[in-house]
Amino acid sequence: MHIDQIRDEFKTLETAIADGPIVPDVTAKEIRAYLGSRFDFTQPMPLNDVIADVEQMLLKWQVQVTHPRYFGLYNPSVPLASVVADTLVAMYNSQLANWRTSPAANEMERHTLAWLADKFGFPTDTIATFTSGGSEANLSAIVVALTWAFPEYGEHGLRHLSGDPAIYLTGETHHGFNKIAHMAGLGRRSLRIVATDSTLKMSVADLRRRVEEDRENGMLPFMVIGTGGTTAAGVIDPLPEIAQFCKAQHLWFHADAAYGGSAVVSPSLKPWLAGIESADSITCDAHKWLSVPMGCGMFFCRHRESVAQAFRSDVTYMPAKPESEDASATFNPLTHSAQWSRRFIGLKLFMALAEFGESGYAELLDRQTRMGNVLRDSLEATGWRIVNSTPFPVVCFTRDGLAIPEFVAKLRERQIAWMSDALISGEPVVRACITSFKTTEKDIEWVVGQMNNLVLNVQQRKTA
Ligand SMILES: *Cc1c(COP(=O)(O)O)cnc(C)c1O
Repeated sequence: MHIDQIRDEFKTLETAIADGPIVPDVTAKEIRAYLGSRFDFTQPMPLNDVIADVEQMLLKWQVQVTHPRYFGLYNPSVPLASVVADTLVAMYNSQLANWRTSPAANEMERHTLAWLADKFGFPTDTIATFTSGGSEANLSAIVVALTWAFPEYGEHGLRHLSGDPAIYLTGETHHGFNKIAHMAGLGRRSLRIVATDSTLKMSVADLRRRVEEDRENGMLPFMVIGTGGTTAAGVIDPLPEIAQFCKAQHLWFHADAAYGGSAVVSPSLKPWLAGIESADSITCDAHKWLSVPMGCGMFFCRHRESVAQAFRSDVTYMPAKPESEDASATFNPLTHSAQWSRRFIGLKLFMALAEFGESGYAELLDRQTRMGNVLRDSLEATGWRIVNSTPFPVVCFTRDGLAIPEFVAKLRERQIAWMSDALISGEPVVRACITSFKTTEKDIEWVVGQMNNLVLNVQQRKTA
């Protein structure tokens, strides 16, 4: 595959997106009518026509998350290397269920994961796998932690336990854990909500109190989830204190760093995640702050045996490993992951990392962090109140008397920027995250200027 033509295509599309609307104005009815009129699948179509149609729909009818003024959820812009990677993955259709079928692909993933595990301060025999996303990684963490804490769980299930297992997290933890608790058979009530302090960090004093109380009541505490960059406000839980508490109490410490975990790649940001090296397991999404296309999650675990136990499977129809191979040197991913057939998820991170180099990646993270500071400063300078505290480029803000949902809707309607609204300590706020490495200082200043005009218009209308 040669890159020049693809690079041109990629650039053309980037420009088209940057010059076009961020938010579509379309109804499901409209799209369905169009699809019905164009694609009844009765006659074959030239592929060129199909491509043109698909691209037109994608350009017109989606929120452009790679737009430089998409200040939204953790959906990144994507570098060319990662786009080429996903194409190569599809072309070669590598199967990563077992090692023998795709030795090169398996080893490229292993190589990449070992690099990041080292950045996290995890030991060299860490077991790590690429997942569909953070949710699968978090699901894996819970299944492995259950396997570690309750040896009878694997064969007999939860109903053979002497009490109800309990997981500790806060109201700021990702809501996906509710689904996971449901799916794992734990039940949503197994999630015990620990209080947060005034900066939205987990209160370890309250954690201690709740674990003690639950134990007295016959529950079986087994796991604490600390977040490294919460989804709404980018807050980092007190990871060292949680680690210490878990160790003393024989609890599994899972660090959900789906967004913020990538910060370990930057020497200047890494200290914020101190304590993560003591976690039992980590979730990190490369499809968030490492800016590769979805889905590219990662699960890291220091307990090799528990992972192997949780996902073990004895199959006779899979190609065996070569006789000469040291059993610990290679393993079949299907025995270490919730997935069976698995696509070559890790290539997009491998290729982007190879092209940027470690320092290039660090610069990308640092730049977005700087842009977050620019946004914070220019908001504060023009009368906005910042309500969250994080070193990451996630800014939650408000001003007196402003109706937040209506304001956010206006920002989108006028194609100023895509931001979300969030509730921080019960207060509605605007949430803006610098998710694109293409966002410039000029973009930010323009957006803040437009926002201030909007506020002014609203105020003038009120007084008129
Ligand atoms: C995004 C996110 C998740 C979920 O990850 P997906 O990749 O969307 O499945 C979990 N935890 C946190 C902290 C997140 O930000």
